[in-house]
Amino acid sequence: MKLVVIGTGYVGLISGLCFAEFGFETICVDTDNDKLDKLKKGKPPFFEPGLDDLLLKHIKSTKRFSLSNNLRESLKDANVVFITVGTPTRRLEDEADLTAVYKVAEEIAENIQNYCVIVTKSTVPVGTTREVQKIVSSKINKDKFDIVSNPEFLREGSAINDFMRPDRVVIGAESKRAEKIMRELYRPLYLLETPIVVTSIESAEIIKYASNSFLATKIAFINQVADLCEAVGANVQDVAKAMGIDKRIGSKFLNTGPGYGGSCLPKDLKAFSAIAKKLNVDFSIIDAVTHSNEERPGKIVAKILNRYNNNVKGKIFSILGLSFKPNTNDVRDSISLKIANMLIKKGTQVKSFDPKAMTEAKKILPEVIYCNSIKEVCKDADGLIIATEWNEFRALDFKAIKAVMKNPIIFDLHNIYNKEELVNLNFEYHGIGK
Ligand code: NAD
Repeated sequence: MKLVVIGTGYVGLISGLCFAEFGFETICVDTDNDKLDKLKKGKPPFFEPGLDDLLLKHIKSTKRFSLSNNLRESLKDANVVFITVGTPTRRLEDEADLTAVYKVAEEIAENIQNYCVIVTKSTVPVGTTREVQKIVSSKINKDKFDIVSNPEFLREGSAINDFMRPDRVVIGAESKRAEKIMRELYRPLYLLETPIVVTSIESAEIIKYASNSFLATKIAFINQVADLCEAVGANVQDVAKAMGIDKRIGSKFLNTGPGYGGSCLPKDLKAFSAIAKKLNVDFSIIDAVTHSNEERPGKIVAKILNRYNNNVKGKIFSILGLSFKPNTNDVRDSISLKIANMLIKKGTQVKSFDPKAMTEAKKILPEVIYCNSIKEVCKDADGLIIATEWNEFRALDFKAIKAVMKNPIIFDLHNIYNKEELVNLNFEYHGIGK
């Protein structure tokens, strides 16, 4: 079977390589020639654990994987075409920008020759895959193609593992022929007994947004509970632990913090709400989650400023972690960068260190002083903010840090440390919700 994956971002590149790993002939197509040149040399355009090795393996030693900027050529004899281009939030609106998806749909329609399954793997609002069907059927005969919605649930930072060992695969299909082909693609997962959930196209599209929105709701919920804990002297970690033991609730996504960021949750909640509004459906829960999350970095900064009696001009803050979460260099909608920006606007100097995301962060916030080590970042600091919970920050050498900081005050935004331990080392410790 020959697969074509259009768009070599996080989803396209990982999906393409993993399908090649499953044994399928796969071509990844992109319009970004710089990206393709780097990929052809074995250089991934972003950091993702295990990606270097997987890319090198398929470029050097298997003949199954290739890269191209020529969609027409790539689509020759294709059996399945995946659309994995970006669907960012539209400027000045909350809706998903589907320009790239529809452009690709036109290109597919102009170039497919034999029967093929066209799959939307990008996260798209309900109705989009149907629109892709309309675009394609306006140019070619209906019996030459089928459409499928196959949303992707991989997480940056563990993307390869998530693709190879997913909790479930969702296939939104209405043609038996297309369903059979999709099941064949995911056959390597049968050994793991991965549930394959086959639904209508519309349900599949909604499953993706509903899943992300539910996860975001858990985060926003526990963050508000953390605020209450802080107000009454309770401990949100104890509260979350006891809640999470209840199987109906579950412990995942119940860790309080500075709010969720990244390229998916913020934009997906906005797009989910926008489509509900269009259809006159009340989605006030989702709007409340977005609102609460957008307020969160400001609240955290207010808490930090309050510790200095709002007198922070000229003070130096050190921020550990800039990526939106550990194990990625993705800084899209990074909460750390939002906090850094707010502190800079208050007249402070912000220094920062991140194991992988500094090059990307510099492009967005050049005003930060980027440092090469934890010692360098902490030097002369009036406060240390642990903003992203990279493993590297879970066993810091606090004696060395204390020796170089001006004021040993720590703001641990993910509660990775124990207050007593740090107080014993003569630090002033501020966690969240405890
Ligand atoms: P991305 O922005 O990293 O990559 C998109 C790629 O598509 C880019 O390389 C771009 O050059 C390419 N592209 C754009 N137009 C093209 C065209 N006409 N032809 C060929 N290539 C084209 O995006 P991403 O993070 O991989 O996300 C893609 C989709 O998957 C989005 O809908 C996103 O919401 C969804 N998703 C992302 C994740 C994630 O963790 N990043 C997880 C699940 C789902």
